[in-house]
Amino acid sequence: MNHGQQKYPHLFSPLDLGFTQLKNRALMGSMHTMLEEAHDGFNKLAAYFVERAKGGVGMIMTGGIAPNLEGSPFTGSAMMANATDVANHRIVTDAVHNAAPDCKICMQILHNGRYAYHPDGVAPSSIKARISPFKPKEMTREDIERTINEFAQCAALAKEAGYDGIEIIGSAGYLISEFLIELTNQRTDEWGGSYDNRMRFPVEIVKRIRAAVGEDFIVVYRIATMELLPQGSSWEEVVQLGKAVEAVGATIISTHFTWHEARVPTLATMVPRAAFTQVTGRLRKELSIPLITSNRINMPDVAEQVLADGDADIVSMARPMLADAELILKAEQGREDEINTCIACNQACMDHAFSGQLVSCLVNPRACHETELNYLPTTNKKRIAVIGAGPAGLAYSTTAAQRGHNVTLYEASDKVGGQFNIAKRIPGKEEFEETLRYYRKQLELTGVSVKLEHRVNAQELLDEKFDEIILATGIQPRTPDIEGIEHNKVVSYLDTLQGNKPIGKKVAIIGAGGIGFDTAEYLAHAGVSSATCKTTFAKEWGIDFDNHPRGGVAGVESTVETSDKEIYLLQRKTTSVGKTLGRTTGWTHRIMLEKRNVKMMNGCEYHKIDDQGLHVTINGEAKILDVDNVIICAGQQPLRELYDDLEKAGSNVTLVGGADVAAELDAKRAIKQASELAAAV
Ligand code: FAD
Ligand code: NAP
Ligand code: SF4
Repeated sequence: MNHGQQKYPHLFSPLDLGFTQLKNRALMGSMHTMLEEAHDGFNKLAAYFVERAKGGVGMIMTGGIAPNLEGSPFTGSAMMANATDVANHRIVTDAVHNAAPDCKICMQILHNGRYAYHPDGVAPSSIKARISPFKPKEMTREDIERTINEFAQCAALAKEAGYDGIEIIGSAGYLISEFLIELTNQRTDEWGGSYDNRMRFPVEIVKRIRAAVGEDFIVVYRIATMELLPQGSSWEEVVQLGKAVEAVGATIISTHFTWHEARVPTLATMVPRAAFTQVTGRLRKELSIPLITSNRINMPDVAEQVLADGDADIVSMARPMLADAELILKAEQGREDEINTCIACNQACMDHAFSGQLVSCLVNPRACHETELNYLPTTNKKRIAVIGAGPAGLAYSTTAAQRGHNVTLYEASDKVGGQFNIAKRIPGKEEFEETLRYYRKQLELTGVSVKLEHRVNAQELLDEKFDEIILATGIQPRTPDIEGIEHNKVVSYLDTLQGNKPIGKKVAIIGAGGIGFDTAEYLAHAGVSSATCKTTFAKEWGIDFDNHPRGGVAGVESTVETSDKEIYLLQRKTTSVGKTLGRTTGWTHRIMLEKRNVKMMNGCEYHKIDDQGLHVTINGEAKILDVDNVIICAGQQPLRELYDDLEKAGSNVTLVGGADVAAELDAKRAIKQASELAAAV
């Protein structure tokens, strides 16, 4: 018995599906990466999946592939509809099966319905989605019949392309789920009206797919278990559909939570780990076939607990497989502290996918770049000094040392991590500690010589005669030019978040970027963090896991604990406050600050700070905000005090991360830039 089987007996037990077996209970969940549409995309996809297959997962689900043109997410996206598509997908299935013959790979079939981002979208009724500019065409009965047949043809072609199975996505607000609820299905024919009629479409799809692919082929149905919309399904309807889908030939049911239109976060870092698995557990008691659960399961112990609790038969981990292709292998080998954990930031995955960019990962910039970004052993070993152990310095040192370079890392403070040590103090960002744990272990494994509490100066570096000097010294906060900026009411965000200065009851925050928002959350928060407590999460977002009203949320009030502070969050721009935050997470921060009574104001002009408070003009109206403190979150500037002396002395100096460009710097850019430079040194 290996370490994995001993420590995670449920995760590492095989699952018998009758005609085939899964080697363990870990599924790499479906993610559309945009490699599907990239130049030479299928070879790149093959390399990406091969790394994950070798990394130990029992089954992989591809990103969503459309069964027809109307169902595609955008013009020119990947489909499975003809012989060319079959040949392309063969590249992927052959590569995966050759690399890991005991790993299954299934293709997800996704018809976007009214979420299609093109004018040819269709839906049960012609009702526009808030998140698409296009109004869909109402499907005729002929369209419905044809579409069901195209689903079946798509599945048959997937089988021909070498897949072990398919997944039908019947959730998230895509076409199939649009048939299920009256909000989007207002038909009066046999496809609308009663629930029996509304669920006819998915049931018919599963039935015809099973007929098209035969018995020995995995058919997963992804069911809308909790739409998180008040107009969503009742629990009885979910169970009725699950039983019907099982009866017509599904092999496995995968549970899915939320529609893309819902206003409840399900993936963000403020969502607790395994927040939704109990819902899968309830459905599992009603059905006989295996169930998959998902959402915020990012470490092997979390997966094991979910399985041991009887909540599911298989655990889906999607983003965690971007962050670390070897997550399962590391769990099997007892190398859990080497796992590069998904911190649920969404910054390089979901934010990219929803803005049409190639998906990757903040903590692992190699994700989806497997054919281009490789950390090969060096043939020219160098002595390298890296100054600053923030995300940029950590990524550079560990990557360069892993390649065989001799690296010394200098850090002024008493710990590695840079600004991530501050970020992790924000309620809801506790996961950021995982990245620091990962890097601490990598420093040890790669043999980087770490010198803490060592604010290095230029002469010291010159004396050491390093071959390369990497300045990863980060940033210094910008001090805006406002009269009275020296007043003792004024506090930096660093002093605020590090608890260095007491903060009064009434506060104005200047600057509403990511750090302004985080500072407001830090000050307005009370009670435990939702990220660490399912009950708090459910209360804050108005979810009733126990009684499961319609959509899980109908009629449920949200309640939020708030500190006694009165907080103004200000920006000069006239655009809505929070517009610059992450595409898929910004709204969650805005909603939460509104719930915590933070007053967000745009169009501000700052005049002066004095004993009376902050003198401002807000949208043309002069005011004095009578505040105890003014906290400055007005962006940052590069900290590169060593650069000029080193440059003048002729050293090979490279700037990276915030020390290079501070504007719009985030950890995604810092880690990616550092990794790319270290791969090439
Ligand atoms: P830093 O993290 O600033 O690290 C620089 C390091 O250099 C420091 O440890 C410093 O002590 C050291 N140093 C400086 N001078 C010397 C010297 N002379 N000798 C030795 N050491 C020196 N980013 C995101 O992507 N997502 C987020 O959600 C997010 N949230 C954040 C929340 C907060 C509250 C904060 C403050 C930041 C957040 N960030 C976030 C930003 C992110 O942390 C930074 O973009 C990132 O840390 C920049 O990395 P860096 O390595 O360039 O610089
Ligand atoms: P930022 O996003 O650039 O925001 C700076 C804010 O200060 C803006 O609201 C800006 O808006 C204001 N400002 C700029 N210059 C000013 C001046 N001279 N006087 C007054 N106000 C001024 O920077 P940040 O908030 O410091 O964040 C730094 C980086 O960390 C960001 O790039 C961000 O990506 C990253 N981060 C990300 C997250 C996340 O959740 N993804 C969280 C925290 C931080 P106006 O000019 O309109 O006033
Ligand atoms: Fe996870 Fe963030 Fe990486 Fe996405 S970008 S996989 S959320 S760590």
